[in-house]
Amino acid sequence: MPLKIDEITEVIKKQILDYGKEVVVQEVGTVASIGDGVALLFGLDKVMMGELLIFNDNVFGMALNLEEGAVGAVIIGDDSQIKQGGKVRRTGKVVKTPVGDELLGRVVNGIGNPIDGNGPFVNNEFAPVERIASGVMSRKSIDQPLETGIFAIDSIIPIGKGQRELIIGDRQTGKTAIAIDTIINQKGKNVKCVYVAIGQKESTVAQVVQKLKQAGSMDYTVVVSASASESAPMQYISPYTGVTIAEEWMNKGDDVLIVYDDLSKHAIAYRTLSLLLRRPPGREAYPGDVFYLHSRLLERAANVNEKLGGGSITALPIIETQAGDISAYIPTNVISITDGQIFLSEQLFNSGIRPAVDTGLSVSRVGSSAQIKAVKQMGGTLKLELAQYYELQAFAKFGSDLDDATRTTLEHGAKIVELLKQRQFTPLSEIMQSIFLLAIKERYIKWLPIEEMANFKSEVIKHFEKDEDGKAVLKLLNVEKAYDESLTEQVQTEVVKVLKRVVKTVKDWKSVNFGTEAEWRKLK
Ligand code: ATP
Ligand code: MG
Repeated sequence: MPLKIDEITEVIKKQILDYGKEVVVQEVGTVASIGDGVALLFGLDKVMMGELLIFNDNVFGMALNLEEGAVGAVIIGDDSQIKQGGKVRRTGKVVKTPVGDELLGRVVNGIGNPIDGNGPFVNNEFAPVERIASGVMSRKSIDQPLETGIFAIDSIIPIGKGQRELIIGDRQTGKTAIAIDTIINQKGKNVKCVYVAIGQKESTVAQVVQKLKQAGSMDYTVVVSASASESAPMQYISPYTGVTIAEEWMNKGDDVLIVYDDLSKHAIAYRTLSLLLRRPPGREAYPGDVFYLHSRLLERAANVNEKLGGGSITALPIIETQAGDISAYIPTNVISITDGQIFLSEQLFNSGIRPAVDTGLSVSRVGSSAQIKAVKQMGGTLKLELAQYYELQAFAKFGSDLDDATRTTLEHGAKIVELLKQRQFTPLSEIMQSIFLLAIKERYIKWLPIEEMANFKSEVIKHFEKDEDGKAVLKLLNVEKAYDESLTEQVQTEVVKVLKRVVKTVKDWKSVNFGTEAEWRKLK
């Protein structure tokens, strides 16, 4: 087909004339049907995907289905005011959320509006909730630890700044507890935190806020809450709001930790609104793009390079499983998106091992590059020792007569498990953790009966925090963050001091340990 020069020049001329002109979008449509937070609209021919719509000048909506004759939209907020036949207006904008330091210490709803009764935001900084994640070239590798303060996690499945680590487990297995402990442990570490509560009871969220306040952690935290009583669209949008708030800080060079509690309920909210929008259901009735729902969210966690400020977003998504089934649809999706998972076992939880981290099924794909040197030096073999213990434990159930080597392994493992137990809200610094790892490595714990482990643990902590010699060594360690020969010796001496105090007399050498009296006397 011959090109008509005139026509082309005309188009180009018009484009030049219109260049930079503000587009005034003034399109109005009508509501064809409304219900369950989802509306079918007519007359909005030019509406964009994800565009913000205004109903009756006061209720917001978002266009999600662009069909030939109609537009499907979700209502963000109260849909009871919208009537069939009512008017709906385009805005030409996408959904935005307030961002900035003003949000610290506040509780906001799924689209970032304050709901804690402490007044509106004044700075009016906004950012679009849907954004494309940082590309490969703008990222750098993960090499800084994000300390959770939880011994079983930092020493075995360390998390790095910029990593995405899934917390997965049945209901009531301490998932939220791990996330909250991690937030509390960021105090004074220059990490800002975002806790996104999706589909939870309002009372549960209020308790979390209360706990954070008590720990003095609300100063650097914002809570985004879309509770179970909110509409599905509000729950659907809330994690994107959360990560947008986090991104704004990351772009300024800050380190941010974001918790999504939990993404199972997020997927359910998305399934609800997809079915209401009449999108075709797939496996487990979830829509086909449910993977993209979480991948585009978690992809926004990043450790960006120095050119972009060097900030990071570490994401801790939470997934609830049914009867420990990690091979269901949503769990497998999120496992494949994240860089590792902390698997919490109901069986361990109920047998009193809390945090109930299953060290066999948990991994961190970033690994020891997210640990300080001191922990790396002392904790290298811990995971292996535990694995051996669990294997032998299963096997030992059948045999009654065990040889000494097996008994040693079993007893040693049981004591490690005991040491790894930790109450809520009692974070342990990585340096302190390395001291316990040393006690395990040097087999000092063999002198202790198992019921003495908890006492030993608190005595060691007390010694290094209160005793003059202990304090001096701890100070040195905190500076060096690694063990050399002399430092190792000094720490050993201090640990043995505590040991000698806790184990006053060894009454029955055979049942408590596998060492001899002479060996015990040699410990200095
Ligand atoms: P849900 O499925 O309801 O969200 P969850 O998996 O988030 O539950 P949590 O609410 O964190 O579990 O914890 C369940 C209970 O276990 C709480 O009462 C909490 O106090 C207790 N708990 C959690 N971790 C520990 C711990 N390390 N030591 C003692 N108790 C704990
Ligand atoms: Mg929970």
